[in-house]
Amino acid sequence: MVIFRRNKSITALILSCTLCLIAGGLFYGIFLHDKGPGPKEPAASTGETKASSRSNPSDETKAADTGFTVYIETGHGREDSGRWDTGCSWSDGEKDYEEAELMIPIAKSMAAYLRSSGVKVVTDADEDNNRNLEYTLDYLEDHPEINAFINIHCDWENAESGTMPLYRTEEQLELGKALNKGVHSLIDMPDRGETHREDLDTLNSEKVHCPAVLFETGSIKEDNHILTEKYDAYGKGLAIGMCDYLGVEFKESSDPSKSDL
Ligand SMILES: [Zn+2]
Repeated sequence: MVIFRRNKSITALILSCTLCLIAGGLFYGIFLHDKGPGPKEPAASTGETKASSRSNPSDETKAADTGFTVYIETGHGREDSGRWDTGCSWSDGEKDYEEAELMIPIAKSMAAYLRSSGVKVVTDADEDNNRNLEYTLDYLEDHPEINAFINIHCDWENAESGTMPLYRTEEQLELGKALNKGVHSLIDMPDRGETHREDLDTLNSEKVHCPAVLFETGSIKEDNHILTEKYDAYGKGLAIGMCDYLGVEFKESSDPSKSDL
């Protein structure tokens, strides 16, 4: 019957449309929506800095604001008690080297290059490492809009030469790979590879809502010449890696103040 046939074709039409919607939904869910590990989307730019009791007055950007914010923790340094935590140390017989001091120029360099690329940076390097990890974790808990977190360290004197990003999750691994690649694009040194760790607050803390990596920049003894002499290139390499991870164009600063890092 005609009526029956029409009903049948309408039913077929509804059925095929429903299937299309299901297939479309699945396609969006798998390929478009769930992008897997990667940086958090940048916070919507309002043209003003968020007010906060812990906001840093020097975290201005020198290029168009990308909307991304990165936290750079300089390993060790001043604790809440006021005690200075040196981290690892080594002496070549003439000079004593301390991890907490050595990491400051590298962190400052990374911050300067990120800022010149339009990425907002919050870092204890601005305070010459006078803040500790506890402070950083509290800050990150209060600022879930931060897109990525790097904790910069160097390894002890008996460690092998080379870079070693430490990670726990797949998301952290992606960030570690990008940072490592950035460093090796500028610095000629061995690569100890991304290394899985379960025992580090930087990687474990529930206060951290963004991808985090503890980056071992090298051995305080074996890579001392790189850490002391090539700190600017090292920080630049880390910034290149971070920009790559965030999907931001890396831009060198023409700001002369960078020369006194
Ligand atoms: Zn350390």
